[in-house]
Amino acid sequence: MPNIADMPYDDRDGDIWMNGKFVPWREANIHFLTHSLHYGGAVFEGIRAYSGQIFKLHEHSQRLIDSAKIIGYDLPYTVEELDQFTQETFERSGHRDAYIRPLAWRGAEEMGLGAHNCKIHVAIAAWFWPSYFPDEIVQNGLRLKTSSWRRPAPDTAPVHAKASGLYMISTLSKHESEAAGYHDALMLDYRGRVAECTGANIFMVKDGALFTPDPDCFLNGITRQTVIDLAKERGYDVNIDTIMPEDILKADEIFVTGTAYEVLPIGRIDQTDFKVGPITKELRQAYHDLAGIKR
Ligand code: PMP
Repeated sequence: MPNIADMPYDDRDGDIWMNGKFVPWREANIHFLTHSLHYGGAVFEGIRAYSGQIFKLHEHSQRLIDSAKIIGYDLPYTVEELDQFTQETFERSGHRDAYIRPLAWRGAEEMGLGAHNCKIHVAIAAWFWPSYFPDEIVQNGLRLKTSSWRRPAPDTAPVHAKASGLYMISTLSKHESEAAGYHDALMLDYRGRVAECTGANIFMVKDGALFTPDPDCFLNGITRQTVIDLAKERGYDVNIDTIMPEDILKADEIFVTGTAYEVLPIGRIDQTDFKVGPITKELRQAYHDLAGIKR
């Protein structure tokens, strides 16, 4: 039996929810002339389930609807319907620890930049996903290299949508950092300020207080918002503030937050090393307790 992690994503067992019904996994296909495949107009979510419970399902369903609206279309479902279809997809998968991926896209009714007549499609898949990062990274932290690519200005791209087109920048940055021997990229914004990572938000700890940038040109992650609440509940001062690249290098601790990353320490940025500190560990544990993560 091959390890499931080594199997291509289009060649697995199970069912995928697509446009209102379940279809066999290998038959969940789209046509070559799908508008969003050519012009980048898909929106998506990444959701986790732990021990049989989907974490923050409603927030993710709402963000899918909001992302679609930002890039110019309405989903054909309400937030409650999306919650229900996602729940059904998860339950049907038979997994208790899963990654769930809803995606919406414009169909093949038009093949030009105007897309008013394209039908909006929605699909949801769920697969087994215990942990994204090996223990070594959890213990020592992720190594980041500052990307040569920047997060664009809010009048350059629909920066607040979780839209597939924006991930072109993330993949370029991720590949660039991996080629240099790092795990991931630190992304600056169009002004040269610290923004986030390729798929996670960033926090720094300095003299016992937390600092994180204002998400004015990137995704305000659901995990980011959760961790801000957890930190405040624990009495920490949380500052939404400009962080310049030279500021972050003076941090006592750095961590990133995201559905896939959870709360993950940063061990290095470019040439500077950081210790995995107590506040990162405390908030990581608090996040685990809230989400029901048992590891
Ligand atoms: N920024 C980007 C670019 C992302 O892809 C993600 C993951 N969705 C995040 C931040 C973190 O968002 P969340 O905590 O909602 O997963």
